[in-house]
Amino acid sequence: MSHRKRTFFPRNLKHDPDHVLDGMLVLECFFCGRYKTPIEFDMKNHLLELHKGKLISALPIRGKGFDIDYRIEFAVDIMKRKKPIEFYDHRATQQELEKNGLDSTKTGS
Ligand SMILES: [Zn+2]
Repeated sequence: MSHRKRTFFPRNLKHDPDHVLDGMLVLECFFCGRYKTPIEFDMKNHLLELHKGKLISALPIRGKGFDIDYRIEFAVDIMKRKKPIEFYDHRATQQELEKNGLDSTKTGS
């Protein structure tokens, strides 16, 4: 993934006008169950910002030999193995946003 693209989609999947993310594996945060992104970089930032404590206390790895980077990789790896896997599709995102009344991107076309 290019470093340029990630700046286009900082947090929200609706910033994807060209749908370049379609077909990518969606990662879902199992700590809060609310954050989803196909961008691993964004998920890692999310984990670090919101779940640092859980990364240390709630993962099935114990001991001092595991630093925070290892724990983030571990958590993302679990997300990748989650079944059923989900692939990103902007249409699904659209429906979800509409369902939640959060769709501010609608242009009426
Ligand atoms: Zn989360």
